[in-house]
Amino acid sequence: MNEIVCHWILTAIVLGAALALSFAALKNRKGKGAYLCDDCRFNDSEKCLKTVRPYAVECTSYRPNLKPN
Ligand code: SF4
Repeated sequence: MNEIVCHWILTAIVLGAALALSFAALKNRKGKGAYLCDDCRFNDSEKCLKTVRPYAVECTSYRPNLKPN
């Protein structure tokens, strides 16, 4: 009985930690859409020559668009 309680307590702790990390990752992620280019100020063929545009998921040049679209 005691082992079962410990098991569920540990399970609850691990699930709580996983949920907290997921929310933190969502809150701090770059970009608002599925791709960084969706709200990047350089998302234009003249401003960005990267081959990953418009589907970049990682980009060191990403800068969020300051004006709402
Ligand atoms: S700089 Fe990066 S994120 Fe911005 S449009 Fe170009 S590829 Fe996309």
